[in-house]
Order: sequence, then C-alpha cells, then structure tokens
Amino acid sequence: MSRAPSEPRRPFDASAFEGPAFRKKREVPDGLWMRCAGCERMLYRKVVAENLEVCPECGHHFRVGARRRIEQLTDEGSFEELFAEIGPADPLKFEWAGKTFADRIRQEQAKTGNTEAVLTGIAYIRGRRVALGVMDGEWLIGTMGSVVGEKVARLFERAAAESLPAVMVCTSGGARMHEGALSLMQMGKTAAALGRLNDAGGLYISILADPTTGGTSASFAMLGDVIIAEPGAEIGFAGKRVLANTIKAELPEGFQSSEFLLEHGFVDMIVARAQLRSELAWLIDYLTT
Ligand SMILES: [Zn+2]
Repeated sequence: MSRAPSEPRRPFDASAFEGPAFRKKREVPDGLWMRCAGCERMLYRKVVAENLEVCPECGHHFRVGARRRIEQLTDEGSFEELFAEIGPADPLKFEWAGKTFADRIRQEQAKTGNTEAVLTGIAYIRGRRVALGVMDGEWLIGTMGSVVGEKVARLFERAAAESLPAVMVCTSGGARMHEGALSLMQMGKTAAALGRLNDAGGLYISILADPTTGGTSASFAMLGDVIIAEPGAEIGFAGKRVLANTIKAELPEGFQSSEFLLEHGFVDMIVARAQLRSELAWLIDYLTT
C-alpha cells in the first residue's frame, strides 16, 4: 500500500509502544554480574572468577589479564619476575586519534599495574620449574612492541642458559603500530632466540589464548614444539575482512578459531583452562625425561 504523497511522514516515536519489542534494557549492577558472551546468561562475577574466568554454564573462556593468569597457572607465590626493568619508549613520537603514545603508555600502566604488555619470569607449575612469559591482553590489547620482543627473547635465552622449559601464554592484537618497523623486527628477534633455544635442545610450549593475531601469531606464538590453544580462541594473522578483500575469496566459517586450526594441524591440542596446569606438567615430564 503506498502512502499519498501529500501525507506528511511522522517521526517514529518509540515511547508510544509498550510491547515486548520495546522492553527496557535490564539493569545490570556494575561489578556484581556479567553477561556471558557465549550463552548470554547472566553470571555472578564471583562464581566466574572462582571458575578460572570460564562460564560455568557453557564453558566460554573469558579473557584473563597477565597477573591473574599467573595466579591461575603457577604454584602459589612461585613466580619471580624477570626483566621488569625494561620499560617502553616512544621512538617515533607517535600520535593517533588525538592521543600521544606516551600518554597511552601511562594510561595502560595505570590500568594494569604492568610496565608493558608481557610479564616474564621463572615459576613453578605443579613443581616443575619453567621460564614463563604471559602476555597481557589488557595492556594495549597485548600488542608486541620493542619491550615485548626484548623480554620474550631474553626469556628464551634464560631458558636455554638454565635448561628450563619455556612456556608462553600468548594473547595479542599483533605488532604494535605505535612503534612502526621496530615492532616488526621483534618477530625476527624472538624467532632467532627460539632457534637458539631449540639448538640447545630446549623445550618450548606455546599456549594461545583469545585472541592471538598479527605479528605475534606470525612469530613465537606459532613456533612452539607443542602448541596448545584455549577453546574458542580467535587465532589468525590478519582480520577476516582484510583477508577476504586481499585474496578475493570467501573464507570458511570459523576459520580463525582454535577448533578449525586443530582440525587443520596448526595447533596440537585444545586444553580447557581447568586442565591447563596438569596438562603442562604432564607434557614437561613426557618431553624432558
Ligand atoms: Zn556462558
């Protein structure tokens, strides 16, 4: 049915409707409850935290900051931080979206309490001594700049020097654009350090958490002797849209997920967070004795 041209179009007034389609959004008290991105259920935040930041209803694995991850993964109080003194610089005096990178550094440090987007050190996992690195996705989405590359490379060197298994928990938005080509150089640096660890007969286990992308996935994240992924993690190099536009082809559904990569041989196993410690302990024993 067409409208007579003379009839004026009235602006749509949503307040005139009270049916279910216009139900007011449910209020969520800040901090106590959260909505699961997997099953959309409302979850009591404390219960999720006690469940290692995994949804008790559907098993969705939420992202975890580096400090919390270390608590979850290592024997209590065993983590001794190394290379914490290496802090970020702003060699390009980078400015983006009205903000300087120097300001952004201060903001990320205040938010996370960490000087950079990776924590490195020595820790025990069920009694096994390891060189452990944990990326912090909350620090500028875990991007890899000069400091991340340097700390990760030094961690691999320490692992080689002390004959320790190296374990990295990766979560990253990729190479850090604010540091330009210096970020890209970290791919080569970390890979070369891993080569030396490999020559020394060392073991490297890489754990891929949501998301592991860009220059990180294209370097040390994907170079593990064993590559473990968390369930449902996004793992890939470039974004789906960029890829589709570049190769001018339709991409398969879910092709950047842990499950797809396991099926195609890019990761060795998918391990739920609750089993990660015992799986690591088993792997270390199996592969080092
Ligand atoms: Zn859920």
